[in-house]
Amino acid sequence: MKILVVEDEPKTGEYLRQGLTEAGFVVDLARDGPDGMHLGQTGEYDLIILDVMLPGLPGWQVLEGIRRAGIAVPVLFLTARDRVEDRVKGLEAGADDYLVKPFAFAELLARCRSLLRRGKSTEPEVLRAADLELDRLRRRVTRAGRRLDLTAKEFALLELLLRRRGEVLPRSLIASQVWDMNFDSDTNVIDVAVRRLRAKVDEGFEPKLIRTVRGMGYVLETEPG
Ligand code: CA
Repeated sequence: MKILVVEDEPKTGEYLRQGLTEAGFVVDLARDGPDGMHLGQTGEYDLIILDVMLPGLPGWQVLEGIRRAGIAVPVLFLTARDRVEDRVKGLEAGADDYLVKPFAFAELLARCRSLLRRGKSTEPEVLRAADLELDRLRRRVTRAGRRLDLTAKEFALLELLLRRRGEVLPRSLIASQVWDMNFDSDTNVIDVAVRRLRAKVDEGFEPKLIRTVRGMGYVLETEPG
């Protein structure tokens, strides 16, 4: 799952990015209001964590812009202790929850998970292909009922392949969605990760699910096409 953090304070931003990455999320960080609004409007995120006091545009205006673009992503607002007014504006602009700074990371994580749980109802919690199951919230993967031990990146990669099953995903798309890298970056990283993931998901099981489409990318499908 992908989270956008909009926070101008470098220390807090890095702290959130690191903590959420360790918790298994793919995290993008925007450092001002306009950048946050632009990224938020792409609709690529499962959750947005939005600071109120931002250079360029206040958080509640960023949120209005995102909602105006028709993006229904859950939004967690970060507000200062004494700014009741901001909280009200944020909730009016369509925030789903707010957290008062300073906060404990464990609490932030709990709020995020709860928002993701009631978030996009169109996205099922458990993604399946044949006897492979990926539980997005419990962050658990099983094949034929057997638990697979995946790294955070492998999990994100498998989740992407499952969400877009049947679709050939170019390395450039995988790079941007899972590694937050550009196409110019070393795509060998992706090939190695797919090989490792495939060893865990497909070795010893039938049917094979992850396929290489030469010169194009990777696809997860149950029927060989
Ligand atoms: Ca701020």
